[in-house]
Amino acid sequence: MSNENGKTALIPLKPVVKDYAWGIRGMDSRVGRYALESKIIEEIDPDTPYAELWIGTHAKGPSTLGDGSNRTLKDAIGEDLPFLFKVLSAGKALSIQAHPDKNMAARLNAENPQAYGDANHKPEMAIALTPFEAMCGFRRLEEVALLLKKHPEFAACISEEAKLGVFLADTPDSQKEALQKLFASFMSCDPKRSKMELNKLLSRLQNEQNVVHPHPHDAPAWERKCARAILRLASQFPGDAGAMSPLFLNYLLIAPGESFFMAANEPHAYVAGEIIECMACSDNVVRAGLTPKFKDVDNLVEMLTYTMGGPSIDVGEPEPEDPRIVRYTPPVPEFEVMILTLDPGDNCEMKHPGVPCILVVVEGSGRVDGQDLRPGRSYYWGVAKDEHADASGGASGGSLTFSVDSSRRGPLKLTVAHKNMHIESATTFNRNDSTTNLTGLHGSLPYMGRGSPSPAYLKATISKVTEGTPTIPKL
Ligand code: ZN
Repeated sequence: MSNENGKTALIPLKPVVKDYAWGIRGMDSRVGRYALESKIIEEIDPDTPYAELWIGTHAKGPSTLGDGSNRTLKDAIGEDLPFLFKVLSAGKALSIQAHPDKNMAARLNAENPQAYGDANHKPEMAIALTPFEAMCGFRRLEEVALLLKKHPEFAACISEEAKLGVFLADTPDSQKEALQKLFASFMSCDPKRSKMELNKLLSRLQNEQNVVHPHPHDAPAWERKCARAILRLASQFPGDAGAMSPLFLNYLLIAPGESFFMAANEPHAYVAGEIIECMACSDNVVRAGLTPKFKDVDNLVEMLTYTMGGPSIDVGEPEPEDPRIVRYTPPVPEFEVMILTLDPGDNCEMKHPGVPCILVVVEGSGRVDGQDLRPGRSYYWGVAKDEHADASGGASGGSLTFSVDSSRRGPLKLTVAHKNMHIESATTFNRNDSTTNLTGLHGSLPYMGRGSPSPAYLKATISKVTEGTPTIPKL
């Protein structure tokens, strides 16, 4: 498990590349460029949508050693890693989906192993490498109520009873119940009906986009953003009523370096951009829309938590001993991610955390213990054996020294993923966990949707829109 200089246990890997219809095509795709750098493809095809790079031991995409032996990483280390590390390049939206918890995953896997290939849960964390758009979790019920009033085509896809529930719910429990009924009703709407309403909605929104707003306050930024998202999704998935989902899911734009965590049973859909994603080692997805694949609406309606409001956006926590290393720690035991940013002329010694690591270079070039680091190269960093550390003088066995030549123009950025060693000091939290103090973690506040309306604005606007509107359900 050592390279020729006998000092480290850093082993080059060949990840697995996945082409999916939503991937970014050709050279524009980071996944494509990384695949070329890892020599898993010989050239980049301009028409291939390079969507995902898998680095880990999952049976559906096992990484192999880069030494030409084609041995799998799992064979070499004799076990599965508890996590799966991915790079994603999304050119268009992925399906609206959620991932089951452990109990449900076991049941789905037993009932339908074809669709649900393993029995594990799949909490996941996304860290943006480029500006990244995603839908994530349900909107607050007040927002949904407002959007129901403003978009009668959306309202027409939902039963009168479910709508009534949305407007009457006044306790947290009744709000959750109302949201579940609304979602179930929308998902079970007759497809002919929803397609017709979608078309009406699209032509109205298109017309409104063409009008210069005489009063900017007539359509606040978050509503215009929502309308543009619907038009875009509809152009990507013609006829799929899932294009209306920005009316009930939070629509986020996050910046490079920002991250969010999706616990089990939270609806989400990545829309566009490039990210690194770390998750428990599983591939279980329950899909609901924006996909030609199997949609499992009944299981989805049943499993979701109906937590409302956007996720917390995490910018990571700089390590106290070296702030160039930023740690992203979710509240699950399987994984956490470190990002090291090293400027030209700098070097940094990183101690081995004592558990197996996956290392991926995401930007820039540098060196580590005699090896060149280039964007897209990935490595397994195993636990150094004691006798090994002794043989090399003890200094290098348990650490790596990264350096960037001063002639380089930009920093080296590399990511390291491993089993969660800091679960007691998570940098992001699980929205479902009511025991988590939402404002207490490193002073971060729950994400309320950038540019989203304030509760006071919503209250005032709902009563304004509701006044004299003939479609309000009557008691
Ligand atoms: Zn997902």
